[in-house]
Amino acid sequence: MKLEGVELRWVSMPLVSPFRTSFGTQTTRDLLLLKVVTDQAEGWGECVAMAAPLYSEEYIEGAADVLRRYLVPALAAAGPFDASTVATVLEPFHGHRMAKAALEMGVLDAELRAEGRPLSRELGAVHDRVPCGVSVGIMDDLGALLDAVGGYLDEGYVRIKLKIEPGWDVEPVRAVRERFGDDVLLQVDANTAYTLSDARHLARLDPFDLLLIEQPLPEDDLFGHADLARLITTPVCLDESITSARTAAAAIRLGACSVVNIKPGRVGGYLEARRIHDLCVAHSVPVWCGGMLETGLGRAANVALAALPGFTMPGDTSASGRYYATDVTAPFVLDDGYLAVPTGPGLGVEPLPDELAAVTTATDWIPASR
Ligand SMILES: [Mg+2]
Repeated sequence: MKLEGVELRWVSMPLVSPFRTSFGTQTTRDLLLLKVVTDQAEGWGECVAMAAPLYSEEYIEGAADVLRRYLVPALAAAGPFDASTVATVLEPFHGHRMAKAALEMGVLDAELRAEGRPLSRELGAVHDRVPCGVSVGIMDDLGALLDAVGGYLDEGYVRIKLKIEPGWDVEPVRAVRERFGDDVLLQVDANTAYTLSDARHLARLDPFDLLLIEQPLPEDDLFGHADLARLITTPVCLDESITSARTAAAAIRLGACSVVNIKPGRVGGYLEARRIHDLCVAHSVPVWCGGMLETGLGRAANVALAALPGFTMPGDTSASGRYYATDVTAPFVLDDGYLAVPTGPGLGVEPLPDELAAVTTATDWIPASR
């Protein structure tokens, strides 16, 4: 394919309810969408960076800048390309994995649309639907938490994940166990909010039979996670720390995790995400697909990825309605706790023009030649 240009599109989507994690509260999800225009087809990419560098060092305006200044020009200068070459072309530029992932996703979508092939088949999916968990934010009080969890269980979600932070950890887990019983698949996510000196406190979660504790310690503390994993019985899962197949291999080798949360944006794209999946399968490490409050575009791609055989735990691939009253695509709707894997070419979904226009705040066209 030859690149004709990339349209950057800033969208601002109100959340159905505030989403609080250990790093902050979101009431609106601002994100950057990419329309990749090639000589053969158009494809959509979604950059999962947040407005501010709170989850990771990336943020929307940084992603837009590096795309405009370096990534799109490099791809344009590379001559004919396909999705499998994008990461290599962009490799000289350090970091910016979410921006790179968005560009590769758009190229991949365009390529697969041109060839009439669905992303799920390209990635190696073996399921036509995936079980869905839900991520529940930090609440003001336990009553609000129990109401929220009860509502999600009533909707059919098969696994509950509680966001935790110091001061909101053992008690919310205990309350959910007491109210909803030991059969609920339950896990927690600290988003790096603790240190190794909290090990004894985190061990108090052990009696609650959690599936895992996700990213308790800072992103760069693999040794700390390895030490913690020996001090608690709850399995340790890594999210923020896993930025590539290489870091995943190191984490597994060190014993820093026994489960991996795969987020394509965090690791530079869906093709690297598949490599991490393959690596984890080879080491018998279960994986699941995380979420970054994606629109229907990113959600479609995540659901395709989550249908690979190594994704043996329910992911955060929730229905659109978990976050948005109106999505930019036809909404993903929960069916008995599952989402259907799209079957159309590429992502298998497209933006609805009116819905997309309603949430767009700005656009910018980056031509391939200038
Ligand atoms: Mg996480």
